[in-house]
Amino acid sequence: MANLLIIGAGGVSRVATFKAAMNSYVFENIVLASRTKSKCDAIAKDIKERLGVDIKTYQIDAMDVDATAKLIENTKSEIVLNVALPYQDLAIMDACLKAGAHYVDTANYEHPEEAKFEYKEQWAKDEEFKKAGLMALLGSGFDPGVTNVFTAFIAQELLDEIETLDILDCNAGDHGYPFATNFNPEINIREITQKGKYYENGQWREIEPMSVKFKWEYPGVGEYPSYLLYHEELESLTKNFPSIKKARFFMTFSDNYLWHLNALENVGMTDIKPIEVCKGCEISPMEFLKKVLPDPASLGERTKGQTHIGVVATGYKNKELKRYYIYNICDHQCAFREVGAQCVSYTTGVPAMIGAKMIATKTWFEPGVKNMEEFKARPFMYELNKNGLAWFIKELPTKGLPIDN
Ligand code: NDP
Repeated sequence: MANLLIIGAGGVSRVATFKAAMNSYVFENIVLASRTKSKCDAIAKDIKERLGVDIKTYQIDAMDVDATAKLIENTKSEIVLNVALPYQDLAIMDACLKAGAHYVDTANYEHPEEAKFEYKEQWAKDEEFKKAGLMALLGSGFDPGVTNVFTAFIAQELLDEIETLDILDCNAGDHGYPFATNFNPEINIREITQKGKYYENGQWREIEPMSVKFKWEYPGVGEYPSYLLYHEELESLTKNFPSIKKARFFMTFSDNYLWHLNALENVGMTDIKPIEVCKGCEISPMEFLKKVLPDPASLGERTKGQTHIGVVATGYKNKELKRYYIYNICDHQCAFREVGAQCVSYTTGVPAMIGAKMIATKTWFEPGVKNMEEFKARPFMYELNKNGLAWFIKELPTKGLPIDN
């Protein structure tokens, strides 16, 4: 049993907190804290009504390391699950070190002034976590997160070595709005408007945003155009599996989504740099855009369809070339009925809770700053099945697929 503090009260937090309450035989006390306490109270109220589990709530600015450390101490929290925003990662890690708690997050640190995400600054805290006998588990969402675990499963159980890796992320859901993002708009738009990047033969190759695409048949969901993007798990996966010669990440976007995004970009609405809008009053266009777009947490009820995220890996097994596809399909309406959130929040919140559960039960435990693929994949895959994210494995032909072009 362990005491859990969850920070952030958006869509991902709602799911992670519900799932923690469903696993309350592992989490003795669950505390939910965020910048806006009323959002924590709304989640806690729903959980009390639906599951009968008590969640304590607090207001916190997680950028304030001392205040967060004090909250960890006062609530006797042993694990902190950070489902606020990537800007808070370093501050919450420091608060965990100060108060002596383990740390879990779902997205790597981002600099608020620059759309750049990398593990460098979080990995740099490895020694401090080791010395304190604490563990930090990075990227325990779906991608990063489950995609790292699927890759580890293929490397540990299906192939001798992985040579090529393709991660494929499809959201075939429809929320009925002309334009909305499925998770935090700022983080989402920053991710897809930067240059695409993939790994080949030890080097990172950059491409113009959205300039490489192909059509992929997502089993059970359909065929969708999929665009090459840079995604953060590629950094740790290519480091932890040095046999990988080529690693790419693809995500689907509808023509309508891209048409709106292009228009917003063309008029400067996705810029991060603040501009003066009246005397002495500055706002970044992206911050403003976030305010006028639908809140992702409100999309749940109206989103229909499924998400499909998986990993395709090719490599040798006993000198024979093989290719495997492991994937999950999540239904937006089923997720909404269960926890009141759509699949992008669901597929992130479930593994976020499982990451905390892995540490609470010491199923995964080693002091230091760790990525998901550094542990045995099987226990995590078992928990995915148990907590609502069933997965499938398919063997694919090793040649002649759109992915080979
Ligand atoms: P939301 O924007 O819906 O929620 C973020 C929450 O964090 C809000 O409640 C916000 O408070 C709170 N917050 C922001 N700043 C602070 C602060 N300084 N102190 C305390 N709380 C703060 O985001 P999502 O729920 O959609 O996403 C949560 C995280 O999950 C993000 O880091 C995102 O990148 C990640 N993610 C990961 C995925 C994966 O597969 N790995 C996929 C999708 C998301 P307020 O309500 O006041 O604004």
